[in-house]
Amino acid sequence: MISLEACIQRRFQSASWLMSAFQKLVTRLVPASWAASMEAESRRWHACCPCGHARSIWDLGGIRWKGGGHPRTWLPCPACGQRTWHTVRLLDAEK
Ligand SMILES: [Zn+2]
Repeated sequence: MISLEACIQRRFQSASWLMSAFQKLVTRLVPASWAASMEAESRRWHACCPCGHARSIWDLGGIRWKGGGHPRTWLPCPACGQRTWHTVRLLDAEK
């Protein structure tokens, strides 16, 4: 018998897969040139942890396109192991 807790845990483990399915779905629905621009922009936007660790929105499984400002997201950080408010910033680190 599978406990509810194990079930929830499994859901969290598959979350990254679900998000990349979201990317596939969105990029399939738009023209190829838009999809390329979405990926490029999502790769430039990074979620930055206060500890200094940063990951691109694309690597997180998300899409950020034609967005401005500096929103914040509540994310677990693999570097410091804490759940913190990550600032979303435009970085040109990946070239
Ligand atoms: Zn961190």
